[in-house]
Amino acid sequence: MLTKRVNILSESITIAITTLAQELKAQGKDILSFSAGEPDFGTPQVIKDAAIAAINAECTKYTPVDGYPILREAIATKLKRDNNLTYAPNQIIANNGAKHSLFNLFAATIEDGAEVIIPAPYWVTYPELVKYCGGKVVEIETHDTDGFKITPQQLQNAITSKTKMLVLTTPSNPTGCIYTKEELVAIGKVLEGTDIIVASDEMYEKLTYEGTFTSCAAVSKDMYQRTVTINGLSKSVAMTGWRFGYMAAANTELIKATKKLQSQSTSNINSITQMAAIAGLDGSADEDIAMMKEAFIERRNEAVKLMNEIDGLSVIKPDGAFYLFVNIKEVSSDSLAFAKDLLDKKQVAVVPGIAFGSEGYFRLSFATDINTIREGIKRIADYVASIK
Ligand code: PMP
Ligand code: GLU
Repeated sequence: MLTKRVNILSESITIAITTLAQELKAQGKDILSFSAGEPDFGTPQVIKDAAIAAINAECTKYTPVDGYPILREAIATKLKRDNNLTYAPNQIIANNGAKHSLFNLFAATIEDGAEVIIPAPYWVTYPELVKYCGGKVVEIETHDTDGFKITPQQLQNAITSKTKMLVLTTPSNPTGCIYTKEELVAIGKVLEGTDIIVASDEMYEKLTYEGTFTSCAAVSKDMYQRTVTINGLSKSVAMTGWRFGYMAAANTELIKATKKLQSQSTSNINSITQMAAIAGLDGSADEDIAMMKEAFIERRNEAVKLMNEIDGLSVIKPDGAFYLFVNIKEVSSDSLAFAKDLLDKKQVAVVPGIAFGSEGYFRLSFATDINTIREGIKRIADYVASIK
């Protein structure tokens, strides 16, 4: 009854574990969940007010498929201000979250058998969507010892005549690593002379704690032409449930194609979300962003310190995002079994590294309050001591 395409698709493990933890909590179990990739903060008031104003102003009808012009202007202004990228409104489309942007992009560009290079560890969704669209995933393995970043040589070795796309996530989910401008320039040089698309997922841009964030498309004219910039507001202004993401590309034909696809599937994204998103993009929420960032830095520092005190575990300090990708190789060679047992014995939910294509690690989200982080890591320490 079901298609082959849908049968090969796995459910999002990050969502599955988060849902399981919520269910166990609702049953009265003392669960500490570090699985969700979601800020624990509320959406800033200025954004909520913009949504309420939008309802009262009757912004409740269908909108253009790619979003209100005023929204796409706001995205263009943001990309110029923050990323030094020039895009016109017809080079931008608003989607139902960045996950939807990725879906539309892959659906519009990946033919059967096309190869998509994805550095591992990767965010869970990329390989599943590539497979769904008939493409072949080509992984480049990275490790904590190399800062979880691909080298130009690794990229060169992975490219074949079938390579269609490279997916880059900076800052990374799950590792928090950030590519420097120089590293992006070097990656760009490898791609010169090819027609490989770069899907640059910049979702965690605002959560940069060390160094400077650089957009892939900003590093050279060649990279600007080949890159599709993907971003959203889920993480930067705690809008996960509102469903707002966008993509921008120099290639207007590509944006037009995804618009056509969207016109026959979801149509425009929620009209109220669009008006609220403007307040998340135009600087009105900058103080809230700064407050959340400060809290994430404090939590990161504490979590890294406590985790590295555990005999048998190690973690590199992430430069961005809100995850620790913890090395468990000394104590376990099966991250799924480790995560299941940890949940069972200590009621702590983390995501196994294997979900991100990297065995020997787990992901802990520190987007939760500091006391929960301290208690959770204490339980992890007890658990590790018990299996050593
Ligand atoms: N990209 C990355 C790297 C993510 O971690 C996520 C998870 N939220 C997304 C994209 C998708 O976010 P959303 O669909 O909520 O915009
Ligand atoms: N991206 C978040 C995460 O990695 C949310 C879950 C999901 O969309 O898969 O946990």
